[in-house]
Amino acid sequence: MNIILLGPPGAGKGTQARKLVDERGMIQLSTGDMLREARTSGTEMGQKVAAIMDAGELVTDDIVIGLIEEKLAGDHGGGFIFDGFPRTLAQADALGDLLEKYGTGLHFVIAMEVNDDALVQRITARSTCGNCGEVYNDITKPIPADNKCTNCGASDFKRRADDNEESLRTRLMEYYKKTSPLIGYYHCKNQLQWIPGLGEIDEVAAQINAVLDD
Ligand code: ADP
Ligand code: ZN
Repeated sequence: MNIILLGPPGAGKGTQARKLVDERGMIQLSTGDMLREARTSGTEMGQKVAAIMDAGELVTDDIVIGLIEEKLAGDHGGGFIFDGFPRTLAQADALGDLLEKYGTGLHFVIAMEVNDDALVQRITARSTCGNCGEVYNDITKPIPADNKCTNCGASDFKRRADDNEESLRTRLMEYYKKTSPLIGYYHCKNQLQWIPGLGEIDEVAAQINAVLDD
């Protein structure tokens, strides 16, 4: 089973994807994580995308489609969770073609409904464990008092360079201009399922599981 998690920055796609990996053995394909890895390891591509990402703009379709294709050629595990991809109609078309090429398809597109005020609050309060990627929030899920990650015990917490108000405004505009048309695209293909994204992490997870088990 292959699914897309669709929603604006801060909707909780990454948090839910991690739960699906743990609970269902699915494979999370986050183009944002892949691009951040390319930056950290200092590849030529990573250097090229750094300024674009920090400003909150989208990198070119060619780059992210190439990253996804590499992964689809590998192990399919319990299915793929596309997180932060596709983000444009061209990427959506490319994904459809690639899945067909690798003899599989797309089963659900889960659109996470949230409001913009909640997004700003979530993103400006966000940090992650640099070792395992566990997501924390200053208000709703603070870093433990002993400064150790609840998941892996490491003490290396990071804030993303693009998690500031100005980049976030650009990211939201990019989402509404370029990504939100995918809602109509997948609705037309009868693949879209809305779920409320604002509840507790486990409540949202239960809604997603209900869709997948339907
Ligand atoms: P968010 O938390 O805002 O959803 P991600 O971690 O998915 O962000 O992505 C961070 C940045 O990486 C984006 O703002 C963009 O610059 C780039 N990026 C990630 N995925 C894509 C994509 N599919 N197409 C274009 N740019 C992307
Ligand atoms: Zn950790």
